[in-house]
Amino acid sequence: MSASPVVAEVDLERPGKQIGQLRVPQSRDDSGWGTIPVPVVVVANGSGPTVLLTAGNHGDEYEGQVALLDLARGLRAEEVQGRVILLPAMHYPACAAGKRLSPLDGRDFNRCFPGDPFGGFAMSLAHFVDSVLLPLCDYQMDLHSGGTGMDIFPSAVGHFLDDRAMQDRTIAMADAFGAPCTMLLREVNAGPTLLAAAERRGIVALSSELGGGGRLNPGNLAITRRGARNVLHHAGVLEGAPEVGAYGTARRMTVPTLAHYVFAAADGIWEAQDALGAEVAEGAPAGLLHRIEAPGDPPLPLRYGAGGLLWCVRHAGRVKTGDPVAVVAEPL
Ligand SMILES: [Zn+2]
Repeated sequence: MSASPVVAEVDLERPGKQIGQLRVPQSRDDSGWGTIPVPVVVVANGSGPTVLLTAGNHGDEYEGQVALLDLARGLRAEEVQGRVILLPAMHYPACAAGKRLSPLDGRDFNRCFPGDPFGGFAMSLAHFVDSVLLPLCDYQMDLHSGGTGMDIFPSAVGHFLDDRAMQDRTIAMADAFGAPCTMLLREVNAGPTLLAAAERRGIVALSSELGGGGRLNPGNLAITRRGARNVLHHAGVLEGAPEVGAYGTARRMTVPTLAHYVFAAADGIWEAQDALGAEVAEGAPAGLLHRIEAPGDPPLPLRYGAGGLLWCVRHAGRVKTGDPVAVVAEPL
C-alpha cells in the first residue's frame, strides 16, 4: 500500500504535550491544494504503552468529543507513563456539521477502514489511522453514542473474538471503563469499522455506546469522562486504579440474535411502549407504528421477539421500513 498523503503536524515520537493537526488533502474548485485540518493531541512521557482514544467518528455523537476535549486540556505529560494520542473530532467535517455522515461525500467514516490513501478525504484519513496510528498502539477505544436516530444504554462495547486471551483482555478493559454495561456484540457489517481494524492489528480495542438522540446527555458525559481516564489507568499510562461508578460494576450483556431487534415493518411514526433500560418480556407489545398515509387504519403493533434489558431505542420519531426501533440485550 502507498504512503499516506496525510501529514501529522505533531511529532508522534516526541516527549511532552503537543496540540496540533493532521493535514488531510481536500481539493476544491477554488483551492486545488486545499487541506482540512483534523485536531490531534499527543501526550508522551517515559516508557509505557500507547493508547489511542478517538471520538467524532460520527459527528452527531457528542459525549466522546467533549470527554476527549477535557482530557486534551487536563492531561499533563508528567502524569503519563507511555503515550496517549487523542483525536477528539476524528471525522472533522462530519463533527463540524453535527452529522453522522460526511457533508463532503456522504460517507460513514466507520465504514471506511482500512481506507485507501488516494480514495478522498474519509478514505485517506482512515488509511492514515489504520496504517500510521494503529501500529503504534497497545490499546484503542473509539467513543460512540447512538447519534441522532438512536438512544442507547451507556455501554463499553467489544466484539466476540476467536482468540480467548484477547477476548479476556477486551472484557477487562470494558469493565475498567466502568459504564453501567459491558456489551459484547457480533456487529452488523463490522469489517470496515475502526474497531475491527484495531482488532486485525492485535490491539486491545473497544467501542462504546453512550446515549444519543443528537444531544449531549450530562449523566452519560460523566460516565464518558471517567471512562476515558479509566482506560488510561487500566493500561498503566496513568497511576492508580480505575474509578468505579455509583451504580457499581458493569453488567456484562450481549445481543445474541436478530430476534432481539425489533424492525419497523412499514414507514411511519414510532410510538414506543417502554423507556430505555426497561426490562421487557418476549412477545410483549414494543409499540405502535402510525402510518400517515392510512388515516382509516389502526396503527401497526410491533412486539418484542425476545425478553431482557431494553438496550437501544429509536429516538427520532419518523422511521423507515427496516429501521431498528428497539434492541433487547441479555446477560452474557
Ligand atoms: Zn457512532
